[in-house]
Amino acid sequence: MQIKQEMGNTRNEKKDCMKMRIGGEWADPAGGASIEVTNPATGEHIDRVPSGDHRDVDAAVAAAESAFSSWAYRSYGERGMILGSCARLLRERIPALAPLLTGEQGKPLVEATGELMGLAHVLEYYHSISGTVHGEYRNLRLYGDAIVTHTPLGVVGAIIPWNMPALLMGWKVGPALLAGNTMVLKPASSTPLTNLSIAALFEEAGLPPGVLNIVTGSGKEVGEPLVLHPAVRKVSFTGQVETGKRIAELAARGFTRTTLELGGCDPMIVCDDADIGEAVEGVVRGRFYNCGQVCTAVKRLYVFEDVAERFQKLLAARLAGLRVGNGMDQGVDMGPLNNAEQHRTITALIEGVRERGEGTIVTGGAVPQGERFIRGNFYAPTLITDVAADSPLLREEVFGPVLPMVIVEGLDDALAQANASRYGLGASVWTHDMRRITSACEQLQAGIVWVNQHLRIPPEVPFGGVKESGIGRENGYGSIDDYSNLKSILIALGKGRP
Ligand code: NAD
Repeated sequence: MQIKQEMGNTRNEKKDCMKMRIGGEWADPAGGASIEVTNPATGEHIDRVPSGDHRDVDAAVAAAESAFSSWAYRSYGERGMILGSCARLLRERIPALAPLLTGEQGKPLVEATGELMGLAHVLEYYHSISGTVHGEYRNLRLYGDAIVTHTPLGVVGAIIPWNMPALLMGWKVGPALLAGNTMVLKPASSTPLTNLSIAALFEEAGLPPGVLNIVTGSGKEVGEPLVLHPAVRKVSFTGQVETGKRIAELAARGFTRTTLELGGCDPMIVCDDADIGEAVEGVVRGRFYNCGQVCTAVKRLYVFEDVAERFQKLLAARLAGLRVGNGMDQGVDMGPLNNAEQHRTITALIEGVRERGEGTIVTGGAVPQGERFIRGNFYAPTLITDVAADSPLLREEVFGPVLPMVIVEGLDDALAQANASRYGLGASVWTHDMRRITSACEQLQAGIVWVNQHLRIPPEVPFGGVKESGIGRENGYGSIDDYSNLKSILIALGKGRP
């Protein structure tokens, strides 16, 4: 349990508070305030972290700036090797880190383990491509020799949410660091512990001090100063649409580049030729994994009328059998919501649906019965049918274990309803008919379309949204370009050249 010991060493004795990670040191905040980190399954306070402010952002950006030139000078291969070492050490430490992630986030241990393995895989991917980033050369005859070089941007800011803190850290750290940038990352206030521990672990694996810095605190006090900081060349943000709009406004003031990975309201379409058993399992995982708190979770289910009754019966039975509980306990399928505010939002939403008669609650729709559910943020897996077309269940992103199911006449009807949304992150279609697959893939307005699966996101392919789900892409080879300045050099070699 080395991580536990390391965490012990990070405590400020007087305040009993985990510190920030700045310039390879555990740093005290400039001010004295702190944030309680609470276990969402029990309501117990498990730790505290500093509630930083603009002075801490300044210190972290200064540390990242002073680490920049030597990090940028290293080759892609060398930086990639370090990311590979981070991945190896991380894999060894997963047994210690997974309980920390479950403790602050709430997800079952098996999901926490999977997320950390996902982070290791992301770093391994960037290690694997590190030897192939070498710019471009073309002989363009009329224009001369053309060379395209990549240079790093400088200090990059990263702001992440609480639903997948480890994986989303990797989506930003991996390409940014491989491209030669240094970073200041702000975790979500309810899940900072895993991010802080991972940053220290990276340094143990060989990442030089100051290359990756973590400043904890609120969006207003830490996030905004980070976006506005003149030395920050790019901000990569993941979170809600409204926060993304605010960040875009602030970033525009300094012409700071942004990547905005925002919310989703993903449709899943089940055709009448689909393998119904597989589709039911797909929706159980696609909607209820991480207690429904995933940007690309299945948030609207459209089922062809011929198979709707059978589908609903199988799904309701499966949901009634899901074991809800403390993620630390063996055999738990779904943990609590991450925070009390999220619990209040979901509870109020379902009460509103009930009061306004906007749907039929087939299963769930309440906190599960039992004493062990009283203190945590638990909510039962909920399936709702007969949903009113203008219900918020279909219009807005619901970040919890609630699934509205709509019966459709056929593919055209399903596609029209699926696209009638301000979001466009992911979408899936379940069918074995090639004509249906082709039309759905062409017509679905989304950044990622799955066929006979949902929610699987490999680091090898670009990920991001259309419409209000975001701007830009993460993952994939192109992410190196997104964290680089591309310079085109054209060399005319003189008249004598053939
Ligand atoms: P949020 O927008 O409330 O917060 C995200 C982060 O932004 C947090 O660290 C928060 O402290 C910070 N923040 C808040 N206000 C800020 C401001 N004014 N300036 C700078 N930073 C600020 O989001 P959340 O509730 O933590 O996360 C859930 C949302 O994230 C959902 O909408 C979900 O769909 C989205 N999400 C998107 C993706 C994706 O890749 N598209 C992935 C995961 C989650």
